[in-house]
Amino acid sequence: MVKMFLWRALNNLLSTKGHLRRKGVVQDSACPLCGLEEENVAHVLWNCPPANGVWGCGSIKFQKRCCGGTNFFNIFEDIVKRCDRFDVERFAVTGRRLWLRRNAVIHGEPFVHPNQIMREVGAAIEDFQRANMVDEHETRQAQKGDSALWQPPPVNSVKINWDATVDHRNGRIRLGCVVQNS
Ligand SMILES: [Zn+2]
Repeated sequence: MVKMFLWRALNNLLSTKGHLRRKGVVQDSACPLCGLEEENVAHVLWNCPPANGVWGCGSIKFQKRCCGGTNFFNIFEDIVKRCDRFDVERFAVTGRRLWLRRNAVIHGEPFVHPNQIMREVGAAIEDFQRANMVDEHETRQAQKGDSALWQPPPVNSVKINWDATVDHRNGRIRLGCVVQNS
């Protein structure tokens, strides 16, 4: 969920007001939270005053950078360059939580306080890291299993193995595919 959110944010695919206006869905692209600027990904997740309030409650590494940057890809690139993997995960989880809060406010739900957001982010990070550990364990098990159990396909059939990686830094997605018939 977090990885998918990050991929959408980095590829400018979140349904911000700015995005919807460019697609002709809405006329007004102003941020629904502050009304000060057009709502784009960098604004809603980083520059909007309510977002700043949340980042200001979090890691000092994020507080120091809590300004500037109008391109979310560049903001994320800066975070990746300067922070360790755990901080990058915290950044992604916090960003997703900000987006969910923004969506909730649009649908008439009350505004959640930054301290509450940070508590939820802490719990979500524990879940995220637990899920990643399970993923890594299952991948290792699957790799062991594949090498031990691989059988050639029946005559006139092929076996296809594929994998994908997302290179956030360079904005590229790579797909790898192996087709075997014997
Ligand atoms: Zn705003």
